[in-house]
Amino acid sequence: MVSWRRLPGLFPTVMFLVSIVNICLVFYVKNVVQELKNESPGYVEVHPRSFSQENAVIERLSHLEMYIHNISNSIKKPFHNERVNQKEDDIKLPEKSKGEMHQAEKAKEEDKMEKEKKVVHRKLFPDSHLFKRWGSDLTEDQQTTAQDLFTKYGYNVYLSDQLPLDRSIPDTRYPSCKVKKYPHDLPTLSVILIFMNEAVSIILRAITSVINRTPSHLLKEIVLVDDYSSNEDLKGHLDEQIKTYNAKYPGLLKIVRHQKREGLTQARISGWEASTADVVAILDAHIEVNVGWAEPILSRIKEDRTVIISPVFDNVRFDDFELLEYAVAADGFDWELWCLYEPLPSKWYALKDETAPVRSPSIMGILAAHRVFLGEIGVLDGGMHIYGGENVELGLRVWQCGGQIEVLPCSRVAHLERAHKPYLLDWISVMKRNALRVAEVWMDDYKYMVYFAWNLPFENHGIDYGDVSSRKELRKKLNCKSFDWYIKNIYPNLIPLTTIVGYGTMKNTLNENTCIDQGPVQENTPIMYVCHAYSPQHLFYLSTGEMYIGGLRSRKNAVDRCLIDPGTGDLPFIEQCNEAVKKGLNMHWDFKQGSSVMNKKTKRCLEIVKDNPSSPYRLAMRDCTGQKWNIQHTVKDWGKKGALK
Ligand code: UDP
Ligand code: MN
Repeated sequence: MVSWRRLPGLFPTVMFLVSIVNICLVFYVKNVVQELKNESPGYVEVHPRSFSQENAVIERLSHLEMYIHNISNSIKKPFHNERVNQKEDDIKLPEKSKGEMHQAEKAKEEDKMEKEKKVVHRKLFPDSHLFKRWGSDLTEDQQTTAQDLFTKYGYNVYLSDQLPLDRSIPDTRYPSCKVKKYPHDLPTLSVILIFMNEAVSIILRAITSVINRTPSHLLKEIVLVDDYSSNEDLKGHLDEQIKTYNAKYPGLLKIVRHQKREGLTQARISGWEASTADVVAILDAHIEVNVGWAEPILSRIKEDRTVIISPVFDNVRFDDFELLEYAVAADGFDWELWCLYEPLPSKWYALKDETAPVRSPSIMGILAAHRVFLGEIGVLDGGMHIYGGENVELGLRVWQCGGQIEVLPCSRVAHLERAHKPYLLDWISVMKRNALRVAEVWMDDYKYMVYFAWNLPFENHGIDYGDVSSRKELRKKLNCKSFDWYIKNIYPNLIPLTTIVGYGTMKNTLNENTCIDQGPVQENTPIMYVCHAYSPQHLFYLSTGEMYIGGLRSRKNAVDRCLIDPGTGDLPFIEQCNEAVKKGLNMHWDFKQGSSVMNKKTKRCLEIVKDNPSSPYRLAMRDCTGQKWNIQHTVKDWGKKGALK
């Protein structure tokens, strides 16, 4: 993987792989895909990212890794055994009997292996993600214990409890980072680890990695924040552990405990409030910092206190705890405000310095900042619930209010990506609510793009996003720039669609139970399907005539998909809009609420037909018979509002 970085030609591939690691999103998409697969058999993709493909890449990668791992084992082991045998032979055995003994030992060994082979344990959880590539040698009791822990935590606590707290992980930095020198005299650091019902061994391993891999003269303290965990072992037992650490490193560890569940944003704020060093690094508790992670951060913040920093994450796999190296990327988001990775800017490549900071539109949860500066710009929005939205809120605020965000390629943190989040079943409603909060405070009239992306009406959407008045005041007090400035100068990859006039599900008046649906993605043929109003059924009609289908992408690296009349045959199809323009396809439609959908070029209409009286309606392109369509929400001239210049 390391060599890929050096080949800009392979960049799209690398970015594709990078997109699979979106820590803020992956499990959400997985869950929704599963939910929809169950509900709608004709349906494959539900979100503006092709997750099924990404999954396939994960699968392929893991197979490749297993394969390499097996080869390396088969190379290492015999070699190692030979040497051991050789040594023992030399010491113990007379020259003559060597051959005979080899034969006898070999037979004994084979017999032993044969017996071991016979103890094949029944697989109790063949469908569990935990046992896909791990745990084949576990007894039934062990499998049950491991599976119970996995369900409770979302990662392999059974294995974590066995691994050394000070285990080594591969150094994933670029070679040029490894030789880079930093001043001895740097600002001091408080490391904040927030947790809610994480496994004790996970938290202790995080602490150990911070102690072992941060220069001791710079590490002022580690602040643990317990967001009202209910697990008993995180109470007295953890306190004992903290005492033990503090006996060895006086005053190093502190713990703040919430008296009620306040969510991860407030946990980060509490950690910041309790910290006292020059710089704070705010991390999840399921991380292991890698060698040399702190020096690049501290030296960059020493140069400029207004830079908020993200290290590069690698992934600790939730099942076997192997480290999966991730490529360096910038942090961005889509119009639903889900975090995602963006390609490295061309200006960064032009520097020809792999160690150079990467300017980033946003941040992904784990961050480091000058403690006082972070306070000056309002730390984090404490009004966020449970999870989500807080990263983008910080990203926009930092840029709009005079700071900067950078990813530092030389600072690497291994982050354990859970298989599921035990604390959050309904991601979507929390995320939607938090996203509206961000939109209302920071995005001016571009906020409507968030409403479009979530398929919400501008008024009466019924979502209580809480009181945002103090955040609006903060924006005023700090004299922050507009979102228009941000999108043009910091995040031009995010594209506003100023000509949307209709959006949401689309129904034909002949049958109001079914909606236009993008259908199975590979087939590129839209279908009529029972209305469920998830993103495959979100359409966007533009006053310029395009009809986008299957959710809103609207980013430079994720092109929307357009409805097309092929001109022949009776099926419409879907094509990426940029390709449709290039190929001159029939992609423009005449449509008004409650009227026909007619292709401007072919003059054919999108209608529904029954192939015979007992079959269900299907979509068809044909001569217009006057069928009428309605789109869920209509809007007028939103793109002509003052804040959009
Ligand atoms: N967390 C918390 N309170 C909550 C939910 C999560 O303190 O209500 C902690 C959690 O233990 C973790 C961090 O917040 O250390 C980030 O959560 P998670 O790792 O689930 O998010 P992800 O990394 O998957 O985005
Ligand atoms: Mn995490």
